Amino acid sequence: MPADYKPNFKLGLSLRTMPVICTTSAEETMFFGEALGSQLAHGDVVALSGELGAGKTTLTKGIARGAGVTAEVFSPTFTLIHEHPGRVPFYHIDLYRLTGQEDTEYLGLDEYLYGEGIVVIEWADRAPAALPDERIDIALIAIDDDKRELRIDATSDRLREIVELVVSSAGSCD
Ligand code: ADP
Ligand code: MG
Repeated sequence: MPADYKPNFKLGLSLRTMPVICTTSAEETMFFGEALGSQLAHGDVVALSGELGAGKTTLTKGIARGAGVTAEVFSPTFTLIHEHPGRVPFYHIDLYRLTGQEDTEYLGLDEYLYGEGIVVIEWADRAPAALPDERIDIALIAIDDDKRELRIDATSDRLREIVELVVSSAGSCD
């Protein structure tokens, strides 16, 4: 071993690769969301990020359907939170109108984020401090008109297992 050898502690972290999938239509994104939503339970939180038009609401519609929501899900841009009855209460939060400067404690999100429902948050990156430690993160990236890359991460073993299960039946981007 060379005298200047330094163990690369970062190696351990990089062994767990973040799942990346690719969808080629809105329907496919919805279908992936449905598979994910069907696995979620009380208190699970999915935090979505990505530009306008990336597909966050489309994915949310699928997750809602998988969670047993039968009503039409649309973007709650003017209300911050929409509640839908389902197999489990389903909360759709959209933080688009936040500037990122708000004190998120005053938004009253905790009641939902640490409550009994399944929660999907669009523009989650606008209130990073408000997010619970245990969650699924999905970053959506528009590759072209119909192609979207979904980068998925989960912060607990249980959520990671769910992600691995649903990702295994989805396609990759190349
Ligand atoms: P966001 O909520 O991120 O602003 P939306 O879901 O409202 O995005 O809009 C996404 C738009 O992109 C829709 O018009 C949808 O039909 C279109 N689209 C095209 N391809 C895809 C895809 N692969 N996944 C999701 N949406 C797609
Ligand atoms: Mg939206």
